[in-house]
Amino acid sequence: MKPKKRLFLGLSLFLFGIIFLLLLLLAYYLRSPEEPIFRFPIIVAFVCLMLLALAVLASLGIIIFILIAGNSISVLNRIVEKVVVFIFPFILHLGKFLHITQDKVQRSFIEINNGLLEARRLKVLPHELLILLPHCLQKDTCPHKITRDPFNCHRCGNCPIHELLSLVEEWGVKVRVVTGGTLARKAVEVLKPRCILAVACERDLTSGIIDSFPLPVWGLLNERPYGPCFNTFVSSEDVEKALQRLVKRRYVNVSV
Ligand code: SF4
Repeated sequence: MKPKKRLFLGLSLFLFGIIFLLLLLLAYYLRSPEEPIFRFPIIVAFVCLMLLALAVLASLGIIIFILIAGNSISVLNRIVEKVVVFIFPFILHLGKFLHITQDKVQRSFIEINNGLLEARRLKVLPHELLILLPHCLQKDTCPHKITRDPFNCHRCGNCPIHELLSLVEEWGVKVRVVTGGTLARKAVEVLKPRCILAVACERDLTSGIIDSFPLPVWGLLNERPYGPCFNTFVSSEDVEKALQRLVKRRYVNVSV
């Protein structure tokens, strides 16, 4: 298991520890000889925390099993993904509290998400896959409006869009270049994909994965050699590797 995945799992275990401590405190309070005030709300909180603790612990065990075995347990997969999405904001806060950068926690979440998706061995038809690309991949000086139609690109080769469009044509998948979450959501609403391959920074990828749930999203981080949101880069080899995982090969248009 890659160290990146371990961070999310370690923080989840830490979260479980905190919930467990809270449970012990509440149990001690409820069992005190004097009649506790707010007895009923405390019992409700106790039950909710106990369910959360069980969900976190069970999900942790299942995630570790899935990631090591490389096989998903279809009935449990959805529940585990739901728990991961639910606890993610807590994990993020916990990371902040422990002085772990937000980027690191988000990267770990993306790795876990991709690992779970890979274990599902989900393969869709080319037209069922949507590639979402961030606008910042386009060269800043390029005058062509590719957010309206990516194929407005003149294929000059000055930015990664050129090679990515060749992949889109070769694999027969759909593609949109988006400037943010609103356009991405709109593209998903209109194109109704069964699976998304999203390229973005840590923050946009995590929010995209969470917003799109239960729609599966494979996350691919872009490189930012000039800082955020400016002339970013993604390797077409990495995009192709993701396509090989997600798209049924026999349906790929090999004539292009
Ligand atoms: S490859 Fe396309 S999008 Fe990129 S700079 Fe050239 S014309 Fe513009």
